[in-house]
Amino acid sequence: MASFDVIIIGAGPGGYVCAIRCAQLGLKVAVVEGRETLGGTCLNVGCIPSKALLHATHSLHEAEHNFAKMGLKGKSPSVDWDQMKAYKQDVVDGNTKGIEFLFKKNKVTWLKGWGTIPAAGQVKVGDEVHEAKNIVIATGSEAASLPGVEVDEKTVVTSTGALVLGKIPKSMVVIGAGVIGLEMGSVYARLGSEVTVVEYLDAITPGMDAEVAKSFQKILTKQGLKFILGAAVQGVSTKNGKAKVTYKLRKDDSETVLDADCVLVATGRKPFVDGLGLEALGVEMEKRGQVKTDHFATNIKGLYAIGDAIVGPMLAHKAEDEGMALAEVLAGKAGHVNYDVIPGVVYTTPEVASVGKTEEQLKEAGRAYKVGKFSFMGNARAKAIFQAEGFVKILADKETDRILGAHIIGPMAGDLIHEVCVAMEFGASAQDLALTCHAHPTYSEAVREAALACGDGAIHA
Ligand SMILES: Cc1cc2nc3c(=O)[nH]c(=O)nc-3n(C[C@H](O)[C@H](O)[C@H](O)COP(=O)(O)OP(=O)(O)OC[C@H]3O[C@@H](n4cnc5c(N)ncnc54)[C@H](O)[C@@H]3O)c2cc1C
Repeated sequence: MASFDVIIIGAGPGGYVCAIRCAQLGLKVAVVEGRETLGGTCLNVGCIPSKALLHATHSLHEAEHNFAKMGLKGKSPSVDWDQMKAYKQDVVDGNTKGIEFLFKKNKVTWLKGWGTIPAAGQVKVGDEVHEAKNIVIATGSEAASLPGVEVDEKTVVTSTGALVLGKIPKSMVVIGAGVIGLEMGSVYARLGSEVTVVEYLDAITPGMDAEVAKSFQKILTKQGLKFILGAAVQGVSTKNGKAKVTYKLRKDDSETVLDADCVLVATGRKPFVDGLGLEALGVEMEKRGQVKTDHFATNIKGLYAIGDAIVGPMLAHKAEDEGMALAEVLAGKAGHVNYDVIPGVVYTTPEVASVGKTEEQLKEAGRAYKVGKFSFMGNARAKAIFQAEGFVKILADKETDRILGAHIIGPMAGDLIHEVCVAMEFGASAQDLALTCHAHPTYSEAVREAALACGDGAIHA
């Protein structure tokens, strides 16, 4: 038996970041991880492998559609799917090994195996019971299931299976038009699959600013994705490696069957806390299965939870921020997460990024606001890379000009959003952004122009 100040269960972005910060703050810390590699869902089967495939297939798209326009002539590259998956795995391995290095560097102990909590202050891994003043549940999430749909990870897959398909399917049905479904749908559409996205709601990317979502759907449709909205999937059957997806349109109850070589179930994720022993410990849970917390503390003294296992957006950076904040709290400092300024990004081409309030939320709250919008058509850099379709929209308080939200669809949106995040953290006005010199020619000039549009007007509009 070993004793620690903190034992964290789960080495995803929540858990490993919490561990490193705890160690930096002088605490003796161990992380329990059951996977063979560190980094959790994010590094192994989530953010990182999906971005590697998005990068590879975006490069293919560039070669097929834009190289010739730039005078780069010749045969388009052919796809070696096994090599593409090997490249993706290399990226994953490099990153997961990087966390191992950081653990060694910071003297974080990795307790290999699946952990349980037999009693407050104790964590059992294999046959060994370890003691800790504080225990952190950072066990993350798993793909949610859908009634009538059985996942075999071959023909009917979650995002995990979709990252390692044996071959590129001729046709793919994606159930769910959320971030994961659209990213993986984009990957396969670029690889030549006929991709149909079936979504229960009447719009894609629920929760996203409606104007951005509409524009996003148009652009993806141009790229070859098909959308069936307002459709409730009734079930999926499989035979000889082929699938049939039955859905009913919500407006008239009419039923249709779609044939597909592969079905990706991307209907969301649910917290993963199975086998920890939380029920026996009497840990209070939320109705939707998350661990109930108040500033990361559960109802059991010395037991905390962070990341996808608790309420809030299921995002790696939200988990990381919670990990850092909790480490500060455990070290006797003030840890804090500003949930009003957590950006969300979709890594398709174009990227889509948002932070703060949407127009719909502001209307519902009855808040008087103004809109500054700027199209990438007026941005020289975006035009040069054939990505001038999107726009930047900044929402600011009508009276005070304080920035309330920003929504970007366009090149590097996932990076551009952060200047607005910083501005919001400082309580900046749109004018503060507008008066900040932005280098030319950059995509970020579009952010400045949108800020200018909140005042006397954009220059290049
Ligand atoms: C395909 C896909 C793409 C994504 N892309 C993005 C993206 O681009 N950006 C983004 O912000 N988010 C993305 N996400 C979401 C992101 O991966 C999660 O929000 C994030 O990983 C949550 O971090 P976490 O630390 O809470 O949990 P996780 O990363 O899920 O890590 C939990 C870890 O705990 C371990 N564990 C669980 N139970 C035990 C136990 N009892 N004992 C020992 N170990 C245990 C698990 O093995 C796992 O390694 C994506 C997710 C998927 C599936």
